[in-house]
Amino acid sequence: MSLPRDKLSPMSLTSAPLQQPEERDQTRQHTAPVILDGLAIAAEIKVEVAAEIQSLAKRNVRPGLAVILVGSVAASEIYVRSKVKTCGELGIFSELITPPESVTTDELLAMVASLNARDEIDGILIQLPLPAHVDTRRLLEAVDPDKDVDGFHPVNVGRLQSGQPGLQPCTPAGVMEMLRRRNLSVTGRNAVVLGRSDIVGKPMAMLLLNASATVTICHSKTADLASVTRGADILVAAIGRPGYVTEDMVRPGAILIDVGINRVTDERTMQEFFPADAARAAIFAKRGSVVVGDIHPAAFATSAAYTPVPGGVGAMTIAMLMSNTVKAAKLRRLAPKGDLQRV
Ligand code: NDP
Repeated sequence: MSLPRDKLSPMSLTSAPLQQPEERDQTRQHTAPVILDGLAIAAEIKVEVAAEIQSLAKRNVRPGLAVILVGSVAASEIYVRSKVKTCGELGIFSELITPPESVTTDELLAMVASLNARDEIDGILIQLPLPAHVDTRRLLEAVDPDKDVDGFHPVNVGRLQSGQPGLQPCTPAGVMEMLRRRNLSVTGRNAVVLGRSDIVGKPMAMLLLNASATVTICHSKTADLASVTRGADILVAAIGRPGYVTEDMVRPGAILIDVGINRVTDERTMQEFFPADAARAAIFAKRGSVVVGDIHPAAFATSAAYTPVPGGVGAMTIAMLMSNTVKAAKLRRLAPKGDLQRV
């Protein structure tokens, strides 16, 4: 079943109120794809999170996030700086812990134990990747599941699978928010997820299933991938291969969600992906690279809606982390039985 493209309009999708999904599917006669603008949606979420933080302050609750950043990986430092800055902007207490590269697993476990024990810390984030000598799995499992704002702990994986309230991984949760806030209904649709990683593919599939999509998960061993992807009303690509999903692999009118973030450093490849795109060419000339997703940009033209790269799914991650931190504070301090409706 494909999403009827004549029922989508970018104007109606951006201007109607939240949480009234079916109502906004009523507009007609629009054929251009809707761009799911992650920056705009993230901004909406941050405004709401800031308002929630203000109302929690009246109850003497200030959400707190601790970030452990080991060593000095340039990309991780940029991400973490951005996370800490956003905490400050929204009113979340944040604490950055920066052990050296030589830190041991036991020392990190002791840090996590101390953060688990502190009441003013609601979220604990361990920035990945960790140095090779650190036991990443042991460390992630040491985080109190109620403070696991990345949603990676097996307890939260189980909660997600059984539909219980809990903390969900930021990237797939962000995709669900984009669909929900732009009134793209998931119920009954064929959703195909490319990729089965623990942090994106599997939780993405579970969230779509919980939202009553009919879900297929594909991976590197899937036979005749194109025949599966062509059946997708909603296609989520999270494989880490630049432009892998081509036009012939998607059906016109599908919703295309591109999680991939791939850096292209070869000028000819860049031009193949973005022919006659002066803006990208300028970025390439300045930085020596451009970012491309897992879906070939040419495939977006016939879609009903799509997430651009950059400025799509990737733009949502920090907003979802902030939202998760507030949710963790509410669940742990105000609604330990998981009933957020009563908070
Ligand atoms: P992983 O490398 O952990 O997983 C990739 C998955 O894709 C695997 O399940 C793999 O299959 C599958 N795969 C690889 N090649 C193919 C293929 N040719 N056909 C079908 N399936 C294939 O990656 P992640 O899940 O961590 O990330 C995926 C992408 O998403 C990356 O580009 C990453 O940068 C990006 N990302 C973006 C985020 C954001 O905020 N936007 C956040 C996290 C990731 P198999 O299991 O068989 O090996």
